Amino acid sequence: MGDDGNREEKLQALLKLNQEMARLCTCKLKETAINVVPGIGSASARLLFIGEAPGKKEDETGKPFVGAAGKFLDEMLTSISLDRNDIYITNVVKYRPPNNRDPLPEEVAACWPWLRAQVELINPALIILLGRHALERFVPGKLISVEHGKAFRRAVPDLGTYVFFALYHPAAALYNGSMRETLLKDFAKIPKILEKLKKEKQGL
Ligand code: URA
Repeated sequence: MGDDGNREEKLQALLKLNQEMARLCTCKLKETAINVVPGIGSASARLLFIGEAPGKKEDETGKPFVGAAGKFLDEMLTSISLDRNDIYITNVVKYRPPNNRDPLPEEVAACWPWLRAQVELINPALIILLGRHALERFVPGKLISVEHGKAFRRAVPDLGTYVFFALYHPAAALYNGSMRETLLKDFAKIPKILEKLKKEKQGL
């Protein structure tokens, strides 16, 4: 089977996983959310973006990052010659917390088997952690203000070893001039990191 066949097979497997997990997920946010927001993009992506939780627009549409933060993210992707078809994007929590409050630890825990299965299936070269909640789920006890802009390889309990790159959350940076500058600078490092990982994989 060619590459396209594998890609299609992987996408079907991810869609099936998302359907099954939407049924099985025990997150209490299900009770207040309008829609589940599983994630969107390519199941064969080398880049997996993980945000915090769906907001109002995401809850209404069932799609991640469709509001102002999503527009900013799209702009940043364009700046490194990528678009949403090149990545997969999801959240730590798959349902909108009421009034966009922070997700509770039990909500993050309830959605973890789903996120873990998505990471395992996609098996990305690089996982981009958007903001402090995504960072906390994979690398607890670290500050986003310290970790942003650095790539690191980390063994995550219950998951395995992956390469991560933490960024400020686009929603937090949207209206904060200096954070926005920092986010844009950090984002611009992604192609070089991907290139380095590709060479590493090829044993170069
Ligand atoms: N913020 C997030 O973290 N995720 C979304 O899907 C939208 C906004």
